[in-house]
Amino acid sequence: MTLETRVIDGWNQFLTFAKKHCSPTAFENWLEPIKAVEEEGQLVLLIPNIFVKEYLLSNFRKDLSRFLPDFDPASIEVFRVETPKRKQKQVEAPPANTNTRFLPKLNKNYQFDNFIEGPSNQFVKSAALGIAARPGQSYNPLFIHGDVGHGKTHLLHSIGHDIVKTHRKLRVQCITTEAFINELVDSLRAKSVDRLKRFYRDEIDVLLVDDIQFLQNRTNFEEEFCHLFEALIHQRKQIVISSDKPPSQLNLSERIIARMEWGLVAQIGKPDLETRVAILHHKAEEKGLTIPHGVAFFIAEHIHHNVRQLEGAVNRLSAHARLLDLHVTEEMVEKTLHDMLQQSPSEKITVEQILKSVATIFQVRVADLKGVSRTKEVAVPRQVAMYLAKEMISESLMMLGASFGKTHSTILHAHKAITSKLTKDEQLKRQVGMVKNSIANAA
Ligand code: ADP
Ligand code: MG
Repeated sequence: MTLETRVIDGWNQFLTFAKKHCSPTAFENWLEPIKAVEEEGQLVLLIPNIFVKEYLLSNFRKDLSRFLPDFDPASIEVFRVETPKRKQKQVEAPPANTNTRFLPKLNKNYQFDNFIEGPSNQFVKSAALGIAARPGQSYNPLFIHGDVGHGKTHLLHSIGHDIVKTHRKLRVQCITTEAFINELVDSLRAKSVDRLKRFYRDEIDVLLVDDIQFLQNRTNFEEEFCHLFEALIHQRKQIVISSDKPPSQLNLSERIIARMEWGLVAQIGKPDLETRVAILHHKAEEKGLTIPHGVAFFIAEHIHHNVRQLEGAVNRLSAHARLLDLHVTEEMVEKTLHDMLQQSPSEKITVEQILKSVATIFQVRVADLKGVSRTKEVAVPRQVAMYLAKEMISESLMMLGASFGKTHSTILHAHKAITSKLTKDEQLKRQVGMVKNSIANAA
């Protein structure tokens, strides 16, 4: 085998190995975008951004050297950042839709290209791509629902952009439900309702409606909307609707709910940890901000409700980093984002959970832990439980004390005692580690 094929071959073998050792999302986000080429017998990895290198080295450094014995990550020649060509093309693309009246109000930042995929949104994203490729010909309507900040509007606009680009003749109308209602109200006042209806029925080909939940309790408009909806569907014109709830949970007439369920109802869920990390890196990169991988994980673990909060975090970090000339470290994040950081979902831990896990690992009964016996077999595990409560639960010492039927100073004392024992007692250290694991797995 020649030298050239040997390095590429080694890389491919590494990829096969890595695919089995990380989640599909991680593989797709981090490893798949890497392009391996050989230059003068050396492996060169073309990466879309510097975080990919960090990810690779912090997760697979040893494995890389196993598959690629000559691999030297310290050499600056090994990694080369190459912005994907696709993005450049997008910037250069001429305005596609020539009929300016129908240029929809689409946010240019909401495109498929910068919508990060993960298990929570993969299905809905592929449905959206399918719709954009063949509007009106597959699922009609497409109904996207999910909590606030999970990317519904982003996807809706992505569909719009894609259709405008690839189906130049199609006229796309993207509107929020509120704006639609306002238009109707205005036209009623101006006695021009018929004109408005004609416009929607005859002069548009694709209707994207955001936040349909605002149609609830607007009975007059509900009917108008239902007529319009049916008219468009009968003409095989594509409709995409977003909502914070599935159709069945909307307080709307049965008729309109049934119509909305005609096509495909797809949920967009809360992004998982890895997807949140990928989104963070992506948003930071857009701002020219470098967030080390470990710090990104820390942020994503503590900001998990929705993507909008992650964006807010990146914006704030970027401002602070720039104005104060700081690097993004965990301490800097804790200071800058202190009011945004939430307990990670796996940390919503109760004293009862801790007692149960401690009892299992130390083989004592929960009742004994709660009791008053001072024998060593019970006293140490009891102190461990108090130690872990202080470590893992962000409640005041007073509250924690109350949960144990003790005072705050008992908790403090236990915490001190165990902290000191842990520096000397390897077995205790292992046991405490096991309790922590069992709590994390149970949460
Ligand atoms: P929703 O309409 O569901 O409330 P948005 O579409 O407005 O949520 O998303 C909130 C913000 O988060 C937007 O700026 C959007 O670009 C961003 N966002 C949400 N999901 C993703 C994702 N998967 N990848 C990249 N950005 C996302
Ligand atoms: Mg929205």
